[in-house]
Amino acid sequence: MAISCPIIRPSDPSFMDAAWSRVFNKRRDATDAARKPHAVAKPRSAAELVEAVDLAVSEGARISVRSGGHSWAAWSVRSKAVILDLADFNEIDYDEKTHVVKVTSRVTGRMLNGFLKPKGRLFPGGHCPDVGVGGFLLQGGMGWVCKSWGWACEHVAAVDVITADGRQLYCDEKENSDLFFAARGAGPGFPAVVVRFHLKTLPLLQMYKNTYIYPLSEYKKVLQWTIEQARAPNVDGDLEAVCLSTSPPGFDSHICLSAFTVFKKTEEEAQAVLGAIHKTRPDGPMVDKCCELSSLDSEYDDQGAANPENHRYSSENAYIKNDADVPAVLEKAFTTMPHKKAFALYYAMAPTSRRWDPALPGPDKGQPGLARWPDMALSMQSDHYFALYTVWENEDLDEKCKGWNKMVMDEIKDHSVGSYLGDSDFRYRTTKFWDDGQAKRLKEVREKWDPEGVFAGYLELEDEVAAEATNGRRRDVGKVILNQHE
Ligand SMILES: Cc1cc2nc3c(=O)[nH]c(=O)nc-3n(C[C@H](O)[C@H](O)[C@H](O)COP(=O)(O)OP(=O)(O)OC[C@H]3O[C@@H](n4cnc5c(N)ncnc54)[C@H](O)[C@@H]3O)c2cc1C
Repeated sequence: MAISCPIIRPSDPSFMDAAWSRVFNKRRDATDAARKPHAVAKPRSAAELVEAVDLAVSEGARISVRSGGHSWAAWSVRSKAVILDLADFNEIDYDEKTHVVKVTSRVTGRMLNGFLKPKGRLFPGGHCPDVGVGGFLLQGGMGWVCKSWGWACEHVAAVDVITADGRQLYCDEKENSDLFFAARGAGPGFPAVVVRFHLKTLPLLQMYKNTYIYPLSEYKKVLQWTIEQARAPNVDGDLEAVCLSTSPPGFDSHICLSAFTVFKKTEEEAQAVLGAIHKTRPDGPMVDKCCELSSLDSEYDDQGAANPENHRYSSENAYIKNDADVPAVLEKAFTTMPHKKAFALYYAMAPTSRRWDPALPGPDKGQPGLARWPDMALSMQSDHYFALYTVWENEDLDEKCKGWNKMVMDEIKDHSVGSYLGDSDFRYRTTKFWDDGQAKRLKEVREKWDPEGVFAGYLELEDEVAAEATNGRRRDVGKVILNQHE
């Protein structure tokens, strides 16, 4: 069939480049060479995206999607799949009356907020500048002030999608609500391709920040203090709190960094929150800054520097049980980093996390006084998010760095209730990604909308072998969607 969408076939000399070069993580595992995509499609419009979906279906291939290319395990490069690489399908359209912005999924956080800033608006997207909104929002999206403003996907009003049978649908809480449920938390298991997200924007606010640096030997005290500030009963609703083991510019080795960022209209409002925290700081900081003016631009620059391009990464994460002794549980992770560029992160999630507690009885399962949990697939969390971002440059360190990650996570997993899809690699660790009820419902939605497994879904270890055996279409190996424990 004659189509206008550019298609790159395996016989084309640029094919491997088209398949892999936009994948952010440059680590390549032994099994990655076995990933043999069917073709790469580069649609430039919704019409060409429809053409590419039709082409994949007519050729009996499955479909994988790439937006920003930042999934750690390169979820978009799949055997027997047409990769829909959306790099050139780039649209942003803002409605002044509703403050809703419609974006295609390759748009990044920096692009989106750069567009919104002159309009006096912001979107609480990812902390890293170049993550695509596609992968980020589908898995939930741990964006700015997630701990109080809710998950980024809670700011999605609707999605336009193309389904496996080629239908173009609008999905929100009323129309095609089961697909909308899946679009907020299915991650790479979403059973359709998103053409556009309709996003609710917020008024633009100023960012102010407290930053503290302590010797790593003070780690336990500093993390415990960060947690206490973040979980205080009267904690401000525009505050986010983070604690890192990192080695920032100017330091030869890892230090413990605690930071509190608040979004407010005025410096006085920010000072009221950050000044109170400052008074309680532990003794002996090497760096100690209160209520400094910051901005999304400078935060994106810092995040970009901490997550450099052309590097190899091994990322892992866990939600630590609410009642755990968190500094003790994370001690090895924070104090035995295998590489100077590697870092570990604690990110406070309450009270957002308290809107849903699977251990509580009753239909709401929520904490009294807090808003009810929205009807969305995303459902796994605790007060304490922890992630490892092990960064290195040379292949000869692959085994050391990956081995260190595994050793650390093997010890932490007993203290964890599950994990976030976004910083996971299902080939190496399977855990709970949803509450059991949401996982069951998500499985049903996927079976309804994509009964033949046209969309490639979760990348598990046996993916390439199984795709070869069935000549393409196949359901996932299954552990992820069955929400299996380790
Ligand atoms: C440096 C770095 C920093 C990060 N920081 C954060 C952070 O602050 N908060 C956070 O929550 N996460 C963060 N992440 C994790 C990141 O959000 C996920 O890896 C996410 O999947 C990346 O989205 P992407 O579109 O860039 O990736 P891609 O690899 O392009 O997409 C990932 C998968 O999402 C699905 N997908 C994407 N677009 C579509 C679509 N239009 N239709 C259907 N399916 C689609 C596909 O299955 C695709 O394979 C970070 C990752 C990196 C590498």
